[in-house]
Amino acid sequence: MNVEDLGEPQMTCEMCESAEIRFVHFMENDRYPGTLSCGAICAGHMESDLAQAEARDKKMRSNASRRKRFPDRAGWKVNQKGNHVLKANGYRITVFKKGILWAAVVSRPPVATPYFTREKFPTLEAAKMAAFDTMSFMEENVPKPAPYHLIW
Ligand SMILES: [Zn+2]
Repeated sequence: MNVEDLGEPQMTCEMCESAEIRFVHFMENDRYPGTLSCGAICAGHMESDLAQAEARDKKMRSNASRRKRFPDRAGWKVNQKGNHVLKANGYRITVFKKGILWAAVVSRPPVATPYFTREKFPTLEAAKMAAFDTMSFMEENVPKPAPYHLIW
C-alpha cells in the first residue's frame, strides 16, 4: 500500500513480531485485518514476491541517503520573500514559512497542479525532506509531459 523510511530501526515487524525495522512496507492481505507494517522479507512472503519487496526496499535505501542530503544539496536559493527555492530535474520546489512552521510546494511545469507537502514542519530541513518525498511521489505517480513537438 505504501512505504516509509523511519530514519532508524524503531519498530517491530507486525508480521513476525521479531524483526526490528526501519524501512516499513505497509501491507494488506485478505487473511489479516487492517494494514500491517512489515519488513522486506515478511512483505515479500505476504505478496508472494520476494524480489518485488526487495526491489522496493532497495529503492527506499538508495533514496534514504539522497533524502538526507537533499536539504544541503547545491542549488537552493532564498528569494526576496524568504522562501527557499530549488529548481532541479524539471521540478520547482518552494519551501515557505506558514506561521512558525515550514511547508513546501512542488511543481513540474507544464503539469498544472502543484503538490503540497501533507504536513507542516518545525524545521526547514524537515520540510525540505518532505518536499523530497513529494517529488519522489510525483516521479512515480504523475505522468511525464508528452515529448515536445514543434507546432507549425
Ligand atoms: Zn517480519
